Amino acid sequence: MITSHPPHERLVKNLYAQGIQNKAVLEAIRATPRHLFVDKSLSRHAYADHPLPIGYGQTISQPYIVARMTEVLLSQGPLSKVLEIGTGCGYQTAILAQLVNQVYTVERIKDLSLQARDNLNALGITNVQFCHADGQWGWVDYAPYPGIIVTAAPSTIPENLLEQLTIGGCLVIPVGPTYGPQVLSKVIRTRSSYEQYQLDHVSFVPLCKGTS
Ligand code: SAH
Repeated sequence: MITSHPPHERLVKNLYAQGIQNKAVLEAIRATPRHLFVDKSLSRHAYADHPLPIGYGQTISQPYIVARMTEVLLSQGPLSKVLEIGTGCGYQTAILAQLVNQVYTVERIKDLSLQARDNLNALGITNVQFCHADGQWGWVDYAPYPGIIVTAAPSTIPENLLEQLTIGGCLVIPVGPTYGPQVLSKVIRTRSSYEQYQLDHVSFVPLCKGTS
């Protein structure tokens, strides 16, 4: 799946200039053909640093945000497995799959979950398990997780996600109201509680309840 085109290189250069330092993250972005995750009519915008529509009122995240969240997730050290909530078209999933041993990803919209599965199959990525469900409950079957990443914003952090972290585990999640200020947060589980760090101002689609 490794490809190298000038637009990828430009994107990676821009991310580096914006402060992304983790070389493995930058390499994963460089190696991932983002144009395959969006509709053909949008391919020529795929390497600009913008979110793009993926249907169903959802978006593929801006590459900077994908890189930033992944870098924060890995800031505690390498991770054996990661739970992702909000698979979308699977772009963030594909980046994670190159950096950790196993990815478990949950999406509430069935068609998107299926599309993501096709997208990752097409790239030959095999270390991802997909689930069509409401991710606010996490994915208890494979818990606990040393890393959890959420790519849609709840108004408060779901308890179940906190409970499914290992001791020392790291949760990266945008938190805030749908049209209000949202903050990218990092939560580390300690033996007796949780340490929360507020990082950047962000704008995500809401974490919705139920499935469709
Ligand atoms: N990770 C994607 C971004 C997807 S946008 C990327 O790589 O670009 C956020 C996704 O979260 C949408 O697909 C949306 O349907 C999904 N989502 C929202 N609420 C959810 C929930 N409760 N459980 C699982 N997925 C949810």
